[in-house]
Amino acid sequence: MSTTFGRSTVLGYPRIGPRRELKRAVEDYWAGRIGEADLHATAAELREGVWRTLRDAGLDAIPSNTFSYYDQVLDTAVAVDAVPERFRHLGLSALDTYFAMARGVDAEPALELTKWFATNYHYLVPEIGPDTVLAANPAKALGELAEATELGITTRPVLVGPATFLLLAKATDGSPEGFRPFDRLEDLVEVYTEILGALADAGAEWVQLDEPAFVADRTPAEIDALRAAYTRLVAVERRPRIFVASYFGALDDALPALLDARVDALGLDLVAGSRDLDRLAGRGTVSGTTIVAGLVDGHNIWRTDLGAASAIYATLSGLADDVAVSTSCSLLHVPVDLTAETDLDPALVERLAFARQKVDEVVALSRVLTDGVGALPSALPPMPDAWRDQTVHARLDAMRPEHSRRGAYTDRAAAQQERLQLPPLPTTTIGSFPQTDALRHARAEVRAGRLDAAGYDERMRAEIADVIALQERLGLDVLVHGEPERNDMVQYFGEQLGGFAATVNGWVQSYGSRCVRPPIIYGDVTRPAAMTVAWSTYAQSLTSKPVKGMLTGPVTILAWSFVRVDQPLADTANQVALALRDECRDLEAAGIRIIQVDEPALRETLPLRRADQKAYLDWAVGSFRLATSGVADSTQIHTHLCYSEFGEVLPAIDALDADVTSIEASRSKMEILDDLAAAGYSRGIGPGVWDIHSPRVPAQDEVTDALRSAVSVVPAERLWVNPDCGLKTRGYAEVEASLEHLVAAAAEVRGS
Ligand code: GLN
Ligand code: ZN
Repeated sequence: MSTTFGRSTVLGYPRIGPRRELKRAVEDYWAGRIGEADLHATAAELREGVWRTLRDAGLDAIPSNTFSYYDQVLDTAVAVDAVPERFRHLGLSALDTYFAMARGVDAEPALELTKWFATNYHYLVPEIGPDTVLAANPAKALGELAEATELGITTRPVLVGPATFLLLAKATDGSPEGFRPFDRLEDLVEVYTEILGALADAGAEWVQLDEPAFVADRTPAEIDALRAAYTRLVAVERRPRIFVASYFGALDDALPALLDARVDALGLDLVAGSRDLDRLAGRGTVSGTTIVAGLVDGHNIWRTDLGAASAIYATLSGLADDVAVSTSCSLLHVPVDLTAETDLDPALVERLAFARQKVDEVVALSRVLTDGVGALPSALPPMPDAWRDQTVHARLDAMRPEHSRRGAYTDRAAAQQERLQLPPLPTTTIGSFPQTDALRHARAEVRAGRLDAAGYDERMRAEIADVIALQERLGLDVLVHGEPERNDMVQYFGEQLGGFAATVNGWVQSYGSRCVRPPIIYGDVTRPAAMTVAWSTYAQSLTSKPVKGMLTGPVTILAWSFVRVDQPLADTANQVALALRDECRDLEAAGIRIIQVDEPALRETLPLRRADQKAYLDWAVGSFRLATSGVADSTQIHTHLCYSEFGEVLPAIDALDADVTSIEASRSKMEILDDLAAAGYSRGIGPGVWDIHSPRVPAQDEVTDALRSAVSVVPAERLWVNPDCGLKTRGYAEVEASLEHLVAAAAEVRGS
């Protein structure tokens, strides 16, 4: 049995399959088109493909249990039996109970879905109470381990570590005041000791426990609890060797705690958290713990500067007896394979590495560094001149503070109301209407060359006309064009802006079966032509009600793209902002009275350490204001934000200075209204009254109740009525029914 960690590994690999096979299989299962056995068969094939790929690439330590039908945090919840009672009562099969937790069913809303650290991946929030019974149920990890063993491939099962699991969990409704799931750490660690025993019995030599929560600020008590937890796990007699992986930043004070616990291997993110090197340097040579050096960026798509990486490795070798090469985080966050890209500029391809290529980088690095075999490829070539645009730099340099300031809110509100004449509690939606098969089919036809631009245009216009007619019929006050022409809210702009490249197959899992294809920002950003004006003005021509122009904000465009790393993020954000500023002015000039600039990712890219947050929020807010301050006072600027835990960004939401902010609220039961008011926000606000992440239709009474609780906090003249988010992932049946309830509830509350 091998006791050494190995020289090369990755922390995880994409599970969606090279052609999004998992998405299709899971959605077929949900729709009843295939049964459980077919779904399992596709999943097994995908896992086998990943393991073989990793082994054949020459990686010598291979993870398993990184596959998931939906989410690895949900998988870990199941592995410790933390299935809330309300789902057990449904009496469904294990798989359907799992999907019920993920997606909700008629009787029960899903678990809360939230961002995975500073990524665009979303996990399901476990619910843990003081009495939640925790028990070892590692069937999935054991199954994958056995499957790989059967194929002759030794793997290392991966689970979310107990401390991070609890820090990501939320207290079950009705838990006593002051209870935190983290209070259950000792209980949970006992469950992990059993899981470790079961894995050891099944032949696992190593286990990977992910503890990324410790790259965020933690109290000394939390760090002590982490040390105690791993000291306990290390003391378990019958167990695999323990590899604790951290990622997305530096461990700082948690680093000595984990070394004190004498874990067998410790993974450090030396891309985002390279200051951990100094921490290590302060401690004498590490022995007995393999340092797994995250040298290849798992969160971006640029080729690794292998020279720089080997310099870090050399430093590390002086600080620790045993060092292995790895990725900075799971490769879940990058597309599968660059060789599937057929349309990219060769000068760009030369600079890129997707998951498959990053595995090769890890292997090449480890071979050169530990065996002296081969040579490192030459350094990355500098950025070609053709990717730069001096006029963009000059224009940004000329921007002054007054370019990012609008008139006083009271003047704006009066001018806007005079023009818009809206009732109290105006009803609206967040922008997108369902993306139907017909729409996706039209785009596929264009790609295949069977539908020309005029034909595509015609189909989109027909859809817009239908969506406008539907909203008129439903009685909504502020309409949208429905975004049928947008494959994705960032990709759509990426395809039209200069300095952006689109991939054809660069899919990355966002949540469950939903995948996105982030564009690549490789050069200076320009706007060759108006991007949305034709669609918005067409929609406005069909109705006398105001139609909102719909743009994606600079922070979100950056967050959901792969961004160049050769200049500060703030500069790239401001370049995008200038393009959007021009778009806002063009929309205004074309008669659009309301423009919504979505920033759902504002919270998402917030640095995990408080010390880094102010600088981020300053440039984030600055770029939004630069984008939105070029219009007249009488043009109403909306913004939209998703995900309910805003915490430290609440003051920034106020600082965006939007006239109206629509915000996810239904899962957090309107708490956001008090929080925003406390942060000084006193402009228009639309708390989401319908959780659109599941197909469940809210009853009219539910919406009425939500609105009644909202009007008790926010005066009716500032309150808007809208769903939590866009409707693109929903079907028309539930959309019509839900919006009917929403409009009726608004009428009911207006009248009372
Ligand atoms: N306007 C977008 C939509 O409705 C907003 C989506 C989002 O917030 N993620 O789809
Ligand atoms: Zn949203």
